[in-house]
Amino acid sequence: MAVSWRFDGDDLLSGVGAEWDDFALANDGDACVPPPIGQGLIGFVSSADLCVVWHAILGHTRRDPGRPVTLTYRCDAPAERRLMTATVTSDAHAEVEIFSSVTRREPRAEVPLLGSPAARTTDMIRMCGWCSRIRVDGWVDVEEGCRRLGLLELEPGPLPRVTHGICDNCRDTLTSGIDLEPGLLSR
Ligand SMILES: [Zn+2]
Repeated sequence: MAVSWRFDGDDLLSGVGAEWDDFALANDGDACVPPPIGQGLIGFVSSADLCVVWHAILGHTRRDPGRPVTLTYRCDAPAERRLMTATVTSDAHAEVEIFSSVTRREPRAEVPLLGSPAARTTDMIRMCGWCSRIRVDGWVDVEEGCRRLGLLELEPGPLPRVTHGICDNCRDTLTSGIDLEPGLLSR
């Protein structure tokens, strides 16, 4: 699974790779087919925190065209851990391409919290958009957080909503040097 997208000098979507539709449809992204060309980052990134980080990454890449930045992050499905690698490259005209592909997949018991968002309570659980940990008495792996909250039962009852942000670790790592090599996700 791989997907690519490009942003112009104002961080507006200027193009996507040929695999875009398949990727979006396989990841609950029906609203992104056809791709929303001309839309800003906030249309793709699920929180303002993450937008700030992506703006910084795109800006960092433009300052050194031709020198790609490699980032790793998690993009899990309910029954699969997925480690993704994104390569971010700027051309001389400030257009930035992000090419993202799955580096590793690990099947796991399904985590209901990450399933269909139907029938949720008004409670909110914050999830880091980089490492997929959730905040439950500190930031913990989603399975551990769900275990603490009793959300791994076969019939867990109504589930809380998930909102996205960025955890302290990931923010520190990204802002201390955007030029990250694989290793962001120390597990
Ligand atoms: Zn994180």
